[in-house]
Amino acid sequence: MKTIIPRHGLADFEKMQPLTKSKIIEIFGPPDQEISHENYSIQMNYEEKGLNFYYRISEKEKDAPIITCGFVSPFEGKTEDGIVLNKSTMKDVFRICGEETWLTTDKSPYWWVEESGISFYVPKESSNRDFPFKVEDHIDKTIIRMTVPLTYREEEFLVNEDGLLIRSVDEYCIDGTLHDPIIDEERAEQICSKCGLILDDHMISMEYSGERAFSKAERQRRQTHGSPVNPLIPDLQMATMIDKRATMPDNLRKAIKWDSRYSWKQRNMIQATSEIKRIGELLNLPQHVKVYAIKLYRKAFTLGLLKGRSIRAMVAASIYYACGAEKIPRTLQNIVKVSDSTFHQITKCYQSLIKELNLPSPTISPKNLVSSYISILNLPHNVEVTAGKILDKYEKIYSLSGKDPKGLVAAALYISSQLNKIKISQTKISRTVGITEVTLRNRLREMQKFVRNKKRTTSKNKVEKKK
Ligand SMILES: [Zn+2]
Repeated sequence: MKTIIPRHGLADFEKMQPLTKSKIIEIFGPPDQEISHENYSIQMNYEEKGLNFYYRISEKEKDAPIITCGFVSPFEGKTEDGIVLNKSTMKDVFRICGEETWLTTDKSPYWWVEESGISFYVPKESSNRDFPFKVEDHIDKTIIRMTVPLTYREEEFLVNEDGLLIRSVDEYCIDGTLHDPIIDEERAEQICSKCGLILDDHMISMEYSGERAFSKAERQRRQTHGSPVNPLIPDLQMATMIDKRATMPDNLRKAIKWDSRYSWKQRNMIQATSEIKRIGELLNLPQHVKVYAIKLYRKAFTLGLLKGRSIRAMVAASIYYACGAEKIPRTLQNIVKVSDSTFHQITKCYQSLIKELNLPSPTISPKNLVSSYISILNLPHNVEVTAGKILDKYEKIYSLSGKDPKGLVAAALYISSQLNKIKISQTKISRTVGITEVTLRNRLREMQKFVRNKKRTTSKNKVEKKK
């Protein structure tokens, strides 16, 4: 059994770089069959060997380099990871290489996934039974074809070796045609008019500028607050992709094509990046916090934490964590306000980030939040000073982890007001800070105990001094 390897196909071909049409004929003789694909490529078939090779039609006259080689039965081969042609299933591929997006072209008889330079194919159903697509209908199917791209093609992220536009499974509606997106102006969401799926979490329609298309008001808001994606994080491999797109001549058509090829993974990262940038600008976050959030999001995405969760909630959670880790005082409520996700959704994502990425739980120092509430509640400066002192002391004695900083701030503000003889109700403070009165009372109990202790210590000290 031969070993199928990335970039070369077979180890035997490694010495023959670049592999060309004439070299193939030299080794295997003339092909049994030649198939022309869409004026894009010619497929040379060696049926008895179970091998096929593709070269570009445009290079027919020259000794054309082989762009892709394919393996089918009766070829016997396996990958270095031990995935065996005609024996392993897609489930094995996912188990060994990790789960990947299902890809196809409109006319392809296969679904395939790409895993580190090798594509693994299973047959589609002959009828329309493929749709609505269910993973469980396909995952136990045997891998009946593998392909390995040999030459880098500029457009290989757009079209398959047979020149057809590559699509991911998310792009198909229940009936096997593409989703038909309409914009729900009110909710600023794209939904499919046929199946009702909310599309902008899975397949966004990017406008050429890199901004997403929303309702007019939403667009204006986004345009005011966000500029194109590419200058944000040049070190995060976004720039190359955007540049490629920017230099495309027939821009609209190509942009659409480009967008549909950059299915799921890349589009996901682009959407996440632009969302981080948008929220970052609304919350006035420094660049390093945005970078932190993007790196965190990328990690979460790579580890598959996005499964079943919304991009925007995960983005919000990443930003919240990044703020905490970089000691930028922003509360979860600040973030909920500018995000489209709910408090609950973001909290869920946040918890999974901490748990799955094994992150230390960062805490915003409650002291950093004091001054903003002082001004909202219109409290005098001495209340701020005292509250700051109380929180300082609290931080030195108690662990802050797991405690909502807002509760601590509220309690400190209340006690400090009392100490400074300023009348303010618990209700007013808890409402302003955005916690329940129960939380406030719980924190107060804890803190009053500690302030009382402090008082006792102080008076004891005074007594001692007098002595
Ligand atoms: Zn649909």
